[in-house]
Amino acid sequence: MEILLVDDDAIDRETVKRALSKNEYAPRLHEVCSAEEGLKAVENKRFDVLLLDYRMPKIDGIEMVIELRSRPNLGEMAIVMMSNSDDEVLALSCLQAGAQDFITKSEITPAKLHRAIIQAKKRFELEKKLYDSFCQVRELAEKDSLTGLSNRYHFEEALKVSIANNKRSQHNIALLLLDLDHFKNVNDTYGHETGDNLLKHVVDRISLCLRGNELFGRLGGDEFAILITGLTFANSATAVAQRIIQSLEVPIEIDGHIIQCGVSVGIAMHPQNADTAETLTKYADIAMYRAKKQGRNQLCYFEELMQEQFSRNYQIEIELKKSIKNKDFELHYQPVINTKSKEMVGFEALIRWPNCSLKSTPDEFIPIAEQSRLIDKIGEWVLDTAIKQLSVWQTKFNAELTMAINISAIQLVHTSLTSSIEQLLAKYHVAPESIVLELTETALLSQDEESSSRRIAQLNDLGCKLALDDFGTGFSSLSHLLNYPINIVKLDKSLLPQSNAEIRHLAIVKGIAVMASTIGLHIIAEGVETQFQHELCCQLNADEIQGYFFERPLSAVAIEKKWLQT
Ligand code: C2E
Ligand code: MG
Ligand code: MG
Repeated sequence: MEILLVDDDAIDRETVKRALSKNEYAPRLHEVCSAEEGLKAVENKRFDVLLLDYRMPKIDGIEMVIELRSRPNLGEMAIVMMSNSDDEVLALSCLQAGAQDFITKSEITPAKLHRAIIQAKKRFELEKKLYDSFCQVRELAEKDSLTGLSNRYHFEEALKVSIANNKRSQHNIALLLLDLDHFKNVNDTYGHETGDNLLKHVVDRISLCLRGNELFGRLGGDEFAILITGLTFANSATAVAQRIIQSLEVPIEIDGHIIQCGVSVGIAMHPQNADTAETLTKYADIAMYRAKKQGRNQLCYFEELMQEQFSRNYQIEIELKKSIKNKDFELHYQPVINTKSKEMVGFEALIRWPNCSLKSTPDEFIPIAEQSRLIDKIGEWVLDTAIKQLSVWQTKFNAELTMAINISAIQLVHTSLTSSIEQLLAKYHVAPESIVLELTETALLSQDEESSSRRIAQLNDLGCKLALDDFGTGFSSLSHLLNYPINIVKLDKSLLPQSNAEIRHLAIVKGIAVMASTIGLHIIAEGVETQFQHELCCQLNADEIQGYFFERPLSAVAIEKKWLQT
C-alpha cells in the first residue's frame, strides 16, 4: 500500500511514521510538508491513502481535499484527516469536503491509525462505486446511446437555460433543427444496422463543421438539433448550416454501400422570433418543414425577412463566383484633391459590378465576398488592375499620382499579401510610396490579430502608405492609431455636419482632426458633398479631400477625359 503523508509539523510526521512502522503490513510512506507539495506528489505518483494534516499555512487540509475531489475519478485515493483539535464541527467539515475519516493527533496509536487507514480505504472504494454508477445514470439520462450526443431531454433543458441567460445579453441564439432527407429509405433498403452506422457517420461529419462551443443533440430517429449561443449576427448561423449541408454532399460509404444523404435545416432565432424554448423549437420545426418542401438539402429561416436576406445573399454569392471567373468587375476611380493647392493628387480605386442582375453595391457584396472568402480572388484582381492603371497614368500624365486601394481584413491575414503587392509593383514599375492601402479598424481587430499586425508591419517596411479608412464610424480608438504604423486617417463621411447648427457634430469632427494632426497623421476627409463641408475641411486643416463636391468615382476613360488631359 502506498501512503502519502502531508503535514507541516516535523514532530507530528515523526509520530505518524513511528506508528506506521509498527504496522505489520509496513506500507510504503512518502512524506511532504505542505499541501502544494502534496498536490505535486499526486500528479507524479498514485497513492492509495492520503494522511492529511488539517492546519497548514497557505493551503489548509480541507482546501486540498476539495481540490482533489474535483479531479477525475475523485482524485483516486482515500483520505484520513488529522488534527490537534478534537472539534466535532471541524471533523464534520473534513468529511463533508470528501475525507473518509478524521482522527485527532493525540489519539494516534499504531492500532488506531492502522484501522483508520483500512476503513478509509474501504469506504472510499464504496463511495467510488456509487459515484461511477451516478455517472452512468447521468450519462443514460442525458446522452443518446447510439451517437453519444445530448438526448432530447438534455437538449431541451439546455435550451431553456440558454434562453434564460441570453435575456440579459445583447447576443442572439440560433436553434437549428436538422432532418436527414430520405433516411427512411436507407433503413428500408439496407436494414437498421446500416441506418445506425449512417447516423454515426453523419454525426462525425456534422461535428467537424462545428467549432465545439455549440450544443449538438439527437432528438430522435434522424432528427438532430444544434444550439449556437453568443451570436452577434444571424449570418453566423447561415455559415454553420451551409457548411453542414455541403459536408453531406459527399456520399458516405457504409458496409460497401455508397449512400448520399442530404439534410434539411430549419433555423429560428432568439430573441427575434420567440421568447420560450417551446415556441423557438416550434418555429425552427416549421422552418425545417419549409426547407423540406422547397426541395430538401437546404436551409430555411423561420422569419421571412431573414429568409429573404439569406436568399439574396446566397444568390449574390453564386453570381459573384461566376463574375470572378468571367472577370465581370470594373474599377472606378475617385479623385483625391489637395486642400491647399486644389489640385488632384491621386485616386481611390472603388470596385463596381455593372452586370450584376441583383444590382448589388460594394457595401452589400464586399461583406458577402468576405464571408465566403471570395474576396481573395476579387482582392487580387483589384490590386492588379489598380496598380496597372496607376502605372499607365503615371507614365502618361504625372509620375506623382497616388492610388488608394481598399484591403479587406481577410486579405490582411494572408502571408502572401506583401509579396504579391511587391511583385505587382515590380511588374508595373510603380514606387511603393505611391500606393495607399486602406484598412478599416475591424481589420486591425480581426480574429487573427497577430498575423494582421505582422502583415501591417511588412507593408509598412515595403514602403506603402497605410490609411485607416472610415475613421469615426467604429471604435475610433486612439490606440489603433498609436500602435500601428498608420500614416493617414480618412475621416468618414458621417462625421461631416451639414451646417454650423450641428454644434456637437462640429465639435466632434474638430476634436478628431486636432487629435490626428497632433500625432502627426495625414488627414483625408471623405464624402465632401457641399461648399460648406469643403470650407469646413479647409478650416480643419485636412490635407486632402474626396467627395461628390469635386467628383464621383468614374471609369478610367472618364477620368482621363475629365481630369488628366492637359
Ligand atoms: P470606402 O472605402 O469608405 O469608400 C468610400 C465610399 O463612399 C465609396 O462607396 C464612394 O463611392 C462613396 N463616396 C465617395 N464620395 C462620396 C460623397 O461625397 N458622398 C457619399 N454619400 N458617398 C461618397 P462605394 O464605392 O459604394 O464603396 C463602399 C465601400 O465598399 C467602400 O467604402 C469600401 O469599404 C468597400 N469597397 C469598395 N471597393 C472595394 C474594393 O475594391 N475592395 C474592398 N475590400 N472593399 C471595397
Ligand atoms: Mg476606402
Ligand atoms: Mg471610407
